[in-house]
Amino acid sequence: MKNKTKLSEKIKQKALELGFAAFGISGATFLKKESQQLKQWLDNGFHGEMHYMENHFEKRTNPQKLVERAKSVISVLYNYYPKDFQRKDTYQISKYAYGRDYHYVVKEKLNQLLEFIKQEIQEVSGRVFVDSAPVMDKVWAAKSGLGWIGKNTNLISKEFGSFVFIGELIIDLELDYNMHLLKDYCGSCTKCIDACPTGALIPYQLNAGKCISYLTIEKKGDIPDEFKGKWNNWIFGCDICQDVCPWNAKAKPNNDPQFQISGLLKNMNREDWQHLDKITFKKLFKNSPVERAKYEGLKRNIEFIKKPLAKS
Ligand code: SF4
Ligand code: SF4
Repeated sequence: MKNKTKLSEKIKQKALELGFAAFGISGATFLKKESQQLKQWLDNGFHGEMHYMENHFEKRTNPQKLVERAKSVISVLYNYYPKDFQRKDTYQISKYAYGRDYHYVVKEKLNQLLEFIKQEIQEVSGRVFVDSAPVMDKVWAAKSGLGWIGKNTNLISKEFGSFVFIGELIIDLELDYNMHLLKDYCGSCTKCIDACPTGALIPYQLNAGKCISYLTIEKKGDIPDEFKGKWNNWIFGCDICQDVCPWNAKAKPNNDPQFQISGLLKNMNREDWQHLDKITFKKLFKNSPVERAKYEGLKRNIEFIKKPLAKS
């Protein structure tokens, strides 16, 4: 056990050195309770048109199906809270998408961590995951003592709030799982549920089909008229249920230049957005998560807000 504790501490130190805000480890076991919850969520149709969520159910709930002889799930948080923001009187982009696509950044750092383990500790087999494979990242982060999953369904760290990216390293090396599990600190608060403009939050569950984040990024084709007038100004993602969360009041800005807002994005006013052309889109969002929506998707979202409400 002593050796495992020492190794875990050594890996943790390296993770913090690489810029991760927090680090935790859990045993790579089957997620029994969470698999039932996931099944219920899918049965309720809360995944909207994200049919890929129905795939790889076993892999999603059992890390041993993702990495042979998996022993440990290492979870890390990367704080992306920016130093500066968009102007308030314009269309809004979720803060996680201000800078470079986090998949690349967090993956690069986790690959460095994996390399460190191989070089400095011992040869291991493992894989790095950043929101790209069927891994229940929030569940693993909570199990590793990095926070709790709040009523807004985000992982909330007592120290950093919820503006964090989550990544995992699943490896076949046994480590120390003696992590201190955090209790749920939501208490009687309902700020996120009250603030959600589309009623997408059922405490601790998200009806993704109603969520602005899903509708602006994942939803193909037209956006249903029932959401007209409820979008506030969001054209890519939505931060409302995180912005109102008291645990984000003390979010500390990260200095990483890769996640800061560019001067161009900061100064875009409504008119600029309405006249957005492809060249400016490329300048604004090269290597950004917004590329996922594509130029046409972003234009669709802007048009949806712009169009007047149908008369009843
Ligand atoms: S992201 Fe926005 S729409 Fe989605 S649950 Fe949170 S507040 Fe509601
Ligand atoms: S706003 Fe309140 S209820 Fe919602 S996640 Fe934050 S603390 Fe929990």
